[in-house]
Amino acid sequence: MVDKQENSLLLIFQELPKEAEVTRLEYEGPYLVIYVKRPSIITNSFDTIKKLAKILKKRIVVRADPSVRKNKEETAEIIRQLVGEENQVTNVKFDEIMGDVIVYTKRPVSKKDIINQKILAETNWRPVFVKQPPMQSKMLETVNAHLINEAEYRLQVLRQFGERIHRHLLFKNNYVRVTALGGFSEVGRSSVLLETKESKILLDLGVNPSSSWGEELFPRLDIDQVNLEELDAVIVTHAHLDHCGMVPLLFKYGYEGPVYVTKPTRDIMSLMQLDLLDVANREGEPLPYSAKEVRKMLLHTITLDYEEVTDITPDIRLTFYNAGHIIGSAMAHLHIGDGVHNIVYTGDFKFGRTRLLEKANTEFPRVDTLIMETTYGAQYQPSRDEAESELRSLITQTISRSGRILIPVLAVGRAQEIMIVLNEMMKKKEIPEVPIYITGILDEITAIHSAYPDMLSREIKEALYNDENPFTSEHFHRIEGFREDIAKGEPSIILATSGMLNGGASVEFFKAMADDPKNTLIFVSYQAQGTLGRKLKNGERKFQMISKEGKVENIEVKMEVKSVEGFSGHSDKKQLKAFIANLSSKPKNIILNHGELEVIRGFARELEKDKRYLRIPNSEIIVPQLLDSIRLV
Ligand code: ZN
Repeated sequence: MVDKQENSLLLIFQELPKEAEVTRLEYEGPYLVIYVKRPSIITNSFDTIKKLAKILKKRIVVRADPSVRKNKEETAEIIRQLVGEENQVTNVKFDEIMGDVIVYTKRPVSKKDIINQKILAETNWRPVFVKQPPMQSKMLETVNAHLINEAEYRLQVLRQFGERIHRHLLFKNNYVRVTALGGFSEVGRSSVLLETKESKILLDLGVNPSSSWGEELFPRLDIDQVNLEELDAVIVTHAHLDHCGMVPLLFKYGYEGPVYVTKPTRDIMSLMQLDLLDVANREGEPLPYSAKEVRKMLLHTITLDYEEVTDITPDIRLTFYNAGHIIGSAMAHLHIGDGVHNIVYTGDFKFGRTRLLEKANTEFPRVDTLIMETTYGAQYQPSRDEAESELRSLITQTISRSGRILIPVLAVGRAQEIMIVLNEMMKKKEIPEVPIYITGILDEITAIHSAYPDMLSREIKEALYNDENPFTSEHFHRIEGFREDIAKGEPSIILATSGMLNGGASVEFFKAMADDPKNTLIFVSYQAQGTLGRKLKNGERKFQMISKEGKVENIEVKMEVKSVEGFSGHSDKKQLKAFIANLSSKPKNIILNHGELEVIRGFARELEKDKRYLRIPNSEIIVPQLLDSIRLV
């Protein structure tokens, strides 16, 4: 119950129409939830809610009191009628605790707001629309089922978060400090600790893809400032494991707080973590957490849309913006202490359009400190046209000599981008028609993409709305994992994870295909230091590897090894600079992270030189080392 802010309570009772019959007020996570007996009265006084939200500076959600919700069969029937034949309701599920009805439809529903209001008015259930992916995603079903089955627990933790988020401010004199826990002067295990006098939050918590289970696998959680009991929130910018792979670990060691993500990040992150567990177990190097912690993390997630402003602690407000890197990837804008300081943490971003996504946002209300990734700070990438034409000719050459093509891909992002490109090339007959094999996890993640059309580029979104799903093309064939017959068979294109050849089906395919000079290995994404992918890219051709049976295998690489630059989901040097030049608000501090030491240093020198031209004459460029703390206020 809301007992701390009697004034706001009173205000709500005064402002809301009496006929709505308010029964309860609760903080649930960042939201102030008003339970009423007649929600339709309130949806008609939409302006009042807006006004209240503005005065109270709170996000307000109106829910029907459980006693007045219509029975499920009737509700489902009413929904089917309102949504209409053309959108086809495929399933209706009820979240009794939250008062939500989850409506799965074949097509994304247009005019959602109007239908939403009608459903609420007639049934007293709050509808949540989900587009049924044309491809089955087991993960999506599992995630949704888990959230519904555990709704009671979820409501209980949301109320706890609510109490904590809306607690009274204890300290007036603020300070703002960031500490580099991982991903500084390196690529991998990204994590930043942000502290004010009042709050502590973590930005990302990833694993290091190139480290086997040594000390460098984790961000530095072992320092005194990181106290899990004092931690208010965790923000995850996107579902790549170098940004989210260690989040479940927090729940093993007693963290009970929220994890802020976008919806696709929530779904894909869980899948990636479970897959990582699986690979680690198979390779006999188990991770320090289990599926149990992944499930708990899921129940502690709070999903936000882009540009939705949300209180996450008494003195920090979070807003996500599109980062253009992978589906659901976000830049985090943090508004601290009523404007004392504003931080933008970019996570990984692409300031350029791709087939899959719109380019990263540069319009922020205010930026005082920019924490920015620098992965490609030393490289100009060729244009997309050049990249596609190179890929086209490599594929054509390989197939004409009866070879097979292996493209190791990150499960999220590059895989779907390359799928769209290959499908279009085949449709236009620019490359020979051969089967394109994609491994299991890719298929799952691709299915999740088609469930969130609104998060994708205009073209793909339109295609999905028109039921022309580029991911379900007849050219794609799903396989469970490594298959000898495909590795040695007819000409084909194989897309397999992991993208840096550090485990997974791509390594198995590589081993089986390496000795045939007719074959081609094509890298399309970043290869981190220390990975097999990086070694191959650097020209190493002889490897000793351990087989599944534990035997030492000598691998001599005779297949062609190529790298096609230009498909990256990261900004290249030009785009990094263009992003800075285009920022609507010029930062006082630019903190560079997520890049190898030499790359970051070089990029920092160039920024110093180009300050005037980039319109940041007074900005300070900062290159922190691991465990450095920087006081911003
Ligand atoms: Zn990433």
